[in-house]
Amino acid sequence: MNTNMKNRFPINLSIGKLLLLIAISLLSITNTNAQSPTYYITADRIFDGEQMHANWAVVVKANKIIAAAPKEILTKPAGAIAVQYPGSTLTPGLIEGHSHILLYPYNKTTWDDQVTKETDAYRTARATVHVKKTLLAGFTTARDLGSEGAGYADVSIKKAIEDGVIPGPRLLVTGRAIVATGSYGPKGFDHDQHIMLGAEEADGNNLIKVTRDQIGKGADLIKVYADYRWGLNGEAAPTFTLDELKKINEVTASSGRVMVAHAKTNEAMQRAILAGATTIEHGDLLDESTAELMKQKGTVYFPTLAATESVTQYKGWKKGAEPEPEAIQQKRKAFSIAMSKGVIIGMGGDVGVFEHGNNVLEMELMVQYGMPALKVLKAATSVNARALNMQDQVGFIKPGHFADLVIFAGDPSQNISALRNPLWIMKDGVVYPPEKQ
Ligand SMILES: [Zn+2]
Repeated sequence: MNTNMKNRFPINLSIGKLLLLIAISLLSITNTNAQSPTYYITADRIFDGEQMHANWAVVVKANKIIAAAPKEILTKPAGAIAVQYPGSTLTPGLIEGHSHILLYPYNKTTWDDQVTKETDAYRTARATVHVKKTLLAGFTTARDLGSEGAGYADVSIKKAIEDGVIPGPRLLVTGRAIVATGSYGPKGFDHDQHIMLGAEEADGNNLIKVTRDQIGKGADLIKVYADYRWGLNGEAAPTFTLDELKKINEVTASSGRVMVAHAKTNEAMQRAILAGATTIEHGDLLDESTAELMKQKGTVYFPTLAATESVTQYKGWKKGAEPEPEAIQQKRKAFSIAMSKGVIIGMGGDVGVFEHGNNVLEMELMVQYGMPALKVLKAATSVNARALNMQDQVGFIKPGHFADLVIFAGDPSQNISALRNPLWIMKDGVVYPPEKQ
C-alpha cells in the first residue's frame, strides 16, 4: 500500500470513503509509469452513466478507471496527468447501439448499388474511415448489425481495431445476418443471375447450420430479419415462423450469444420476443400489446429514429417545411407508446443509412420525440451497455471499467447537441486523436 496516500485526505472519513481510498491506494502503487500513465480528470459535471455529479474527479491508470469520487476526497495522485476543460461535461464513452460500418448514406450511393456493385475491398476501405469517424465523435463502442453483403469484413475490421492497426470503437459484430429465403434484397434482377444479397438466406432446419456457421466465422451475436417488405403489396410482413426463430435462438443462446431481431410489424416483434430476442430493431408499428410484452420480458427497443428520418428525407421530405409523412408519425407514435409503457429504450440510429460520425443525430431526435436529455444520455451509456451485455466493461464511470471517457463542451443534460462538441476522447486509456496530446 502507498502510505503517502493517507496524508492527502482529511482524517474524518466514513467507512465507505475509507474503503474507496484503500482501493485507490492499492491500485495506484506505481502511478508514474510512462508505459501506463495515470490521468486525473476533472470537469464541471461528471455523468457516471446514470447520474450527473458536480465537482467530481476520475482517476485512470493504464486502460482502466480506478476511482471516481468527489474532488474533495479524490485528489490528484503524484505524477498524474491532469485533464480539465472549463465548462465541460465528462461522460463514459458513448455507445452506438445500431450501426452498419460497411454502409454509407443511400443518397450518395443506393443500398442496392453498394451491395451489388462495390467490392468487399472497396467497402472495407471505406469502413476504416467510418470507424475512425465514429470514435472521433465520442463513440467508443458500437454494436454493428450486419455487413449487408460484405461477408465477414466486419469481423476483420474489429480485429484491425483490436490489433491497433486502425483507430475505431470497440465492436460487437454480426457478420452476414440471417434472412428467410426470398424475403431480402436487392430484388428486381433476372432470376437467372446470381445476385449478392444483403444477408444470408436460411430456413427450417438449415437455420441451425447457418447460425453455427456465422458464429464460427466470428459473429458476436446473431441478427435475424423477423419481417421484411415482402407483403403482397410490398408492405412489411413476418418472415420466419415462431418455431424457426426459437431454433435460431436456441443455437445462439447455447453458444453464449444473443439473438436480436429486425422487426417492424407487431406479429414479427412478438414472435421474436417470445423466441428470446434480446433487442428489437426499428419497431415502427409498435403497439401497446407488443410494448407490454417487451416490458414483461425486458426486451430492449432500438427505435432507429434517425434512419427513418434520413430515408424519408432522401425520398424528398423537407423536414420543418412540410408536414410529417406517415412513416415519421408512425415512428413518433411507436416511440411514445414505448416510453409510456416503460419499455427499455436503447440508443441506436442505424448509422450507415446516414453519415458515420453523425451518430448524435439519433440522440437529438430522441429528445425531439419526447425523451428528457438526461435519459437519452443514459440510453447511450448504461442502458446500451446492459443491452450489449457489456455493463461490467463500458457505459459507466466506475472503478474497474475500461477507461473509455469523453469530455464534451457544455452540458448535454440541458442541450443534447453539446455532444456534437467532443473536446477530449479516451478509449482504452489512449487519448484520440493522439496527435492532439
Ligand atoms: Zn440496420
